[in-house]
Amino acid sequence: MMWREGWRRATVHAGFCAAVAGLVLSLALAAPGSVQAADGPAVATDARLAGDSERTRLVMDLSRSVPLGAFTLADPYRVVVDVPDTIFSLPSSAGQDGRGLVSAYRFGLFAPGKARIVMDLNAPVTIDKAFVLEPMDGQPARLVIDLVKTDRVSFLKTVAAPVRQVPQAVDAAPVIISAGDPRPVIVIDPGHGGIDSGAVNPAMGVTEKELVLKIAMLLRDKLNETGRYRPLMTREDDTYVALGQRVRTAQQHGARLFISLHADSLGSRDGDVRGATIYTLSDRASDAEAQRLADSENKADMIAGLDLSEEPADVAGILFDLAQRETRNFSAHFARTLAGNVGEAARMHKSPLKSAGFKVLKAPDVPSVLFELGYLSSRRDLELMTSEDWQAKVTTAMVAAIEAYFAAQKPLESAPVATPAAMAPTTGLP
Ligand SMILES: [Zn+2]
Repeated sequence: MMWREGWRRATVHAGFCAAVAGLVLSLALAAPGSVQAADGPAVATDARLAGDSERTRLVMDLSRSVPLGAFTLADPYRVVVDVPDTIFSLPSSAGQDGRGLVSAYRFGLFAPGKARIVMDLNAPVTIDKAFVLEPMDGQPARLVIDLVKTDRVSFLKTVAAPVRQVPQAVDAAPVIISAGDPRPVIVIDPGHGGIDSGAVNPAMGVTEKELVLKIAMLLRDKLNETGRYRPLMTREDDTYVALGQRVRTAQQHGARLFISLHADSLGSRDGDVRGATIYTLSDRASDAEAQRLADSENKADMIAGLDLSEEPADVAGILFDLAQRETRNFSAHFARTLAGNVGEAARMHKSPLKSAGFKVLKAPDVPSVLFELGYLSSRRDLELMTSEDWQAKVTTAMVAAIEAYFAAQKPLESAPVATPAAMAPTTGLP
């Protein structure tokens, strides 16, 4: 996935932005008499980098001033700037080319009410200045971030404990398994979102995050039409959702199936590789291509500017026991069923079933697959994936696969404990 090219064009609503400890923080209040409503979103209309490999400045033109918070992250070196209420109305090429200390930057919705700019750095830096200039003399308000090169030791001292701005969590919601509703919960996970665009086909203006959201919504609607399932989405709009949060959503709702939707992209040297692939979780990747893809998909939190050093231990962790093996059996069964059904509606990759260490598939108690619908880098795949006819056929095939999967489990559902992990005898795949 060409994720480095993938951050662009995001429409963002934002609200509160918490101050971040330790580092440069500058506040500016909306100008008195500003013609724009104080509570409306600011609009970023242009952005540019200036300077060299010793000192680099990012300037972003804004319709009005906003408060900002800025902090640094290590490994890889990044500068994160948080702002509220911002719509990024920038050229589609903005952020793709670096200059000086900045190799690239991206921007977009980070969480409801929060927008974020993340700069990738090619050296450790100090945030020398970070402020917003009030509009004056017909000039727009300007967000200015000045970065100065430093050494790694000095950099690491300043990385100390920023107040983490964890995106709005569903954590607050307790596990709710609707009383009296025996229909299985199926969590549909449209990959990426917000500041993380996923793969991009710049020539065709297609982003993975938009494509998979559209297909996820189609799938949800078709599952609802059957009346037999309770589909839930990990995101329903252009919002970034952390990988761990997607997993927790499935666990908190007692999901019986988790389907993560993606579309891959390869560089031109890989030729016209195309077709759909279905991935399940494994400790060792089934091949180098699967490893590359898992590495790429697992970068989502880093792309969004999360501090991964504080990430909790692997959700799988020591739960690598019988329950997890059972879950993996169910995942593999569903993957085969899905490949069989979708194979009639869509072209599959030459080896359509693969496995690797995808973070988003690590719920130990929820059978999970990651469905790469095709390649944004393939013109033919792209034409298919963006056509309503193909989208309808594939989502219908996915519903058929889900029906077949649960139908095969029916005899087991009279077992006293109706969780996938507990349901199956050790040899008991249908
Ligand atoms: Zn993806």
